[in-house]
Amino acid sequence: MFNNLSDRITASLKGLRGHGRLSEADVDKTIREIRRALLDADVAVPVVRDFTGRVRERALGEEVSKALNPAQQVVKIVHDELVDVLGGATGELAWAKNPPTVIMLAGLQGAGKTTLAGKLARWMKSEGHTPMLVAADLQRPNAVNQLQIVGERAGVPVFAPEPGNGVGDPVLVAMNGVSTARFQQHDIVIVDTAGRLGIDEEMMQQARDIRDAVHPDDTLFVVDAMIGQDAARVAEAFRDGVGFTGVVLSKLDGDARGGAALSITGVTQRPILFASTGEQLGDFERFHPDRMAGRILD
Ligand code: GDP
Repeated sequence: MFNNLSDRITASLKGLRGHGRLSEADVDKTIREIRRALLDADVAVPVVRDFTGRVRERALGEEVSKALNPAQQVVKIVHDELVDVLGGATGELAWAKNPPTVIMLAGLQGAGKTTLAGKLARWMKSEGHTPMLVAADLQRPNAVNQLQIVGERAGVPVFAPEPGNGVGDPVLVAMNGVSTARFQQHDIVIVDTAGRLGIDEEMMQQARDIRDAVHPDDTLFVVDAMIGQDAARVAEAFRDGVGFTGVVLSKLDGDARGGAALSITGVTQRPILFASTGEQLGDFERFHPDRMAGRILD
């Protein structure tokens, strides 16, 4: 994950070592190398511009000129700014005052929503919660079945439309799912929704209708990290079309260069809450900006 970016940023920072004081030329050379590394990692241009601008300003400022070890101080600045660009503090889910907490998943088809639903449910169950999954993706023929399989693997009940009734109304399924979860006293209900291969108005409308019917406490936008900075563009469309409270980066185990993770928060101002790192239910982690920045600078 982020190997190339990580190697290049660390190499350019190593170039500063051994300099007693840093000249503007030293700093600019390093910033240029970092800028190139970020652009090659497919980070969105405005994000790269802001990031390098802030690092340069701080690296030429007092905190570095007064530091005993200026090179180390610049490493710290790059670390801080990476944490910032990845969202700052670790993001949290919002919990309903009166359970169940309703979590709606949105995103393009193939983004990893159904898989994520299973991972999230399994993780929440391990934390002592009693989640229920709701199969409101009636677009893809196999989606309901797939959710039932992940639910079974996670040991979590799935609310689904009756077999043979696959062309039902996803809004009704979502509503019935949430009221069933409430009736059965589940404290969390995760609603899987339909995606399309590309952004389309009908999909956005359906997601809005489900949102308005179930009033989610959290709407998580699930996005394939392998699409790089395009993730930020798709996220903007979902932010404007449906709105969401947090991001889940899926397929971070693929050859993601880091572009999605580093672009999306800057562009959407929404935190990345979770990362999905494989096809198995256990391949899932909370997203911690500081740990991720640490990995990049390892
Ligand atoms: P949905 O259409 O958004 O519900 O997407 P799915 O959950 O069906 O996932 C689409 C494909 O991506 C499936 O083949 C999943 O096994 C795979 N997938 C989902 N999450 C990950 C992940 O984190 N890493 C990898 N490598 N594959 C994933």
